[in-house]
Amino acid sequence: VKYVYFFGGGTAEGSGAMKNLLGGKGANLAEMTAIGLPVPAGFTITTEVCTEFYKNNRQYPAGLKEQVEEKLRQVEALMDKKFGDPACPLLVSVRSGARASMPGMMDTVLNLGLNDQTVQGIIRQSGDERFAYDSYRRFIQMYSNVVKGLDGDVLEDLLEQMKEHRGVEEDTALTAADLKELVTLFKNRYREELGEAFPEDPQEQLWGAIGAVFGSWMNPRAITYRKLNNIPADWGTAVNVQSMVFGNMGNDCATGVAFTRNPSTGENLFFGEFLVNAQGEDVVAGIRTPQPINKAGGDGSLPSMEEVMPQSYTQLMEIQQKLEKHYRDMQDIEFTIEKGRLFMLQTRNGKRTARAAVKIAVDMVHEGLISEQEAVLRIAPEQLDQLLHPSLDPKAPKQIIAKGLPASPGAASGEVVFCADEAEQAKAQGRKVILVRIETSPEDIHGMHAAQGILTARGGMTSHAAVVARGMGKCCVSGCGDIKISYDKQQFTDKSGKVYNKGDIITLDGSSGEVMAGLVPTVQPELTGDFSELMTWVDGLRRLKVRTNADTPADAAVARQFGAEGIGLCRTEHMFFDADRIMAVREMILAEDLEGRLAALNKIMPMQKGDFLGLFREMKGLPVTIRLLDPPLHEFLPHGDKELQELAAVMGVAVDRLKHKVEFLHEFNPMLGHRGCRLGVTYPEVYDMQVRAIMEAACELVKNEGYDIVPEIMIPLIAEVKELEILRANAVRVADEVIAQYGVKVSYLVGTMIELPRAALTADRIAEQAEFFSFGTNDLTQTTYGLSRDDAGKFLPLYVEREIFPQDPFVALDQSGVGQLVRMGCEKGRQTRPNIKLGICGEHGGEASSVIFCHNIGLDYVSCSPYRVPIARLAAAHAVL
Ligand code: ADP
Ligand code: MG
Ligand code: MG
Repeated sequence: VKYVYFFGGGTAEGSGAMKNLLGGKGANLAEMTAIGLPVPAGFTITTEVCTEFYKNNRQYPAGLKEQVEEKLRQVEALMDKKFGDPACPLLVSVRSGARASMPGMMDTVLNLGLNDQTVQGIIRQSGDERFAYDSYRRFIQMYSNVVKGLDGDVLEDLLEQMKEHRGVEEDTALTAADLKELVTLFKNRYREELGEAFPEDPQEQLWGAIGAVFGSWMNPRAITYRKLNNIPADWGTAVNVQSMVFGNMGNDCATGVAFTRNPSTGENLFFGEFLVNAQGEDVVAGIRTPQPINKAGGDGSLPSMEEVMPQSYTQLMEIQQKLEKHYRDMQDIEFTIEKGRLFMLQTRNGKRTARAAVKIAVDMVHEGLISEQEAVLRIAPEQLDQLLHPSLDPKAPKQIIAKGLPASPGAASGEVVFCADEAEQAKAQGRKVILVRIETSPEDIHGMHAAQGILTARGGMTSHAAVVARGMGKCCVSGCGDIKISYDKQQFTDKSGKVYNKGDIITLDGSSGEVMAGLVPTVQPELTGDFSELMTWVDGLRRLKVRTNADTPADAAVARQFGAEGIGLCRTEHMFFDADRIMAVREMILAEDLEGRLAALNKIMPMQKGDFLGLFREMKGLPVTIRLLDPPLHEFLPHGDKELQELAAVMGVAVDRLKHKVEFLHEFNPMLGHRGCRLGVTYPEVYDMQVRAIMEAACELVKNEGYDIVPEIMIPLIAEVKELEILRANAVRVADEVIAQYGVKVSYLVGTMIELPRAALTADRIAEQAEFFSFGTNDLTQTTYGLSRDDAGKFLPLYVEREIFPQDPFVALDQSGVGQLVRMGCEKGRQTRPNIKLGICGEHGGEASSVIFCHNIGLDYVSCSPYRVPIARLAAAHAVL
């Protein structure tokens, strides 16, 4: 088996298409080499080795060592250097690289191959003692941390002490002698901390680092990242061993990262940051404030690469254009300049905000780089969620206390916290927080996830905080040097010296970089321009219709703006809670007899009719499905003693009587109790009133306002066709009465929800009485699994964590179980009534994988909450591509 793939000198054994085997980084290093870009030579150990390694109790497969040796010889020949050779040593980096990019999640070791002999060779070769010892001390730092697990602060502290002694601020100000001394100090400390000498043998170093990269696949932060991003553990990581190039050899050297377009706004402007005389992670780690690559990209306070290294800049511009044309997507690149020579170290499709994703996709269509269909496929449906969220109200007063970089757009308010664990705890208690850090590291991921927004004092637009926040769609302001953070005191101060403590509320604007005191109100986004252009392509492609779940005209109006093509579920019980009618509803429930109930229902009727008038008007003739009352009646009565007393006083009834009624209505298991059509069967007058209200509203609008309305009356929780037969007959009787009374021609449909397994199993019979089915997948999931959503919190998260359930079945439809019932319901329904209308109205109607499933089994529409309508539209387009 071939385990190792070479790249270098213009040829490569691998290619960009081999991401699964070589990981993203390895595949793209091969690809860049093959298309003639300057890439330092090296080789990639495949992800298969990682998988084997974990399968075989952390043992490498036979033959690996020999293959690595062979490729190392090849690199040596090409570079004219020898690994471990004191005279002319080859140094390498050992880099991880998974299939999906996991920025900063796993570990890399640079300058490997250095020891007390080879460092002399480096000095002779480069004529630069300072550089040689700078590389050496970095190597010891990285090796001790990545391979031996020594806390990075242990050696970093020695470095800081050295800088303090010498009275310098920056690493670059240390002399060769300082750095040489530091190497000795590091090694001594290494021995003290780890109880063994620093390994001088390059082979031992190499295999130590390879083992550490494979080991890092299972480190806690990599595991967390995979979980958040749904990356399976068995994908494994590859290991890249690559000859070193040096950005830390003086002022004609540099290292940098860049995006071929702006990852935050999508603007077609090459954009990036670099540091002169620096190595590897210095830019991302926020050790020094990086400089902009192009003049236009910075704020003018620091000179750009365009100005200080014009030749390298021109070459980099050419390369980035070539890369974008080649990959036909925005690229995120890493490069290093050694003595004026430019080398490419990485490229990948860049992570971007939703806004940037949309703009880039639409622009690339206009530039002729990709097709409309490709543009549609480039946007993940879930990503749109970010775009549909609020930004700061421009009219609201705001007190700006500091300004940083606009690292990830959006607006967020919350209490200040200074550590990730606390952010997570606060979130669990339902509190909103802003995570404030000097800088973030991969260990903070869980806290960043829990926070509303992230504020860092250090680090640029490509810092860890910025990259991760953009990936999460979370608001982030980075590099906010205006604030001084003290973790000890749990506070920060702004420029004026004003103190903000843990728990104080602040607001971030990730689009401007502004930090504000207190809570600033937000406004809804405007969905125009690129977004609407993309959505016209989406709508042109999809077959599945998208409706919304809306109970009020206001919800319906929002959903219409988001492109809803009807209402798939109007829950009438929400209307019963409104202040003006809850009393009449309670009267109805407390009534001793039919006469009393009718009297109360007569009071509710005009208000219900008003609701439906509003809804029909808002939807302007689009289909509207109204579900008759579903929840058990006790939900409308208060339960606590105090509330019961208040209610009794207001209603003028005895407390005892109220209490008695509440006790009488008590159910052991309301989810499976006296609800849905069971109410309709036992109290037909309630459904009669609702049908009357619906039909009067429709007739009035048809008659007086010339609307074309076909109301869809939906009867919930049917298990047996007889239930529907009875309730349908009632509905038809009332509806026809109303139509006759108004003397207009109005058609209507009567249908049912399929939300119990028995309904799906007998859907052929049920279809005899139903003109449409709407799959209520929330209840159908509860009843198929036999688990109540309201009680699942105690075990469901654990089930998902342990992967007993692949996903929370209330979030993504369980296609192999619940989905089979939906499929069966469709097939059986169509057997009886070929043109039966079929839709889904559970939460799943707005979740991408479920929408695609609904398309595939031939539903006519999905219905979801207003904010998810664009997500469902996009998913429905993905379903056909
Ligand atoms: P990550 O995936 O965390 O970005 P990388 O493997 O890309 O880790 O490496 C970390 C840093 O070291 C990057 O800035 C990269 O450009 C730099 N680097 C990696 N290999 C080399 C090399 N052979 N020569 C010079 N710099 C390198
Ligand atoms: Mg990298
Ligand atoms: Mg239901």
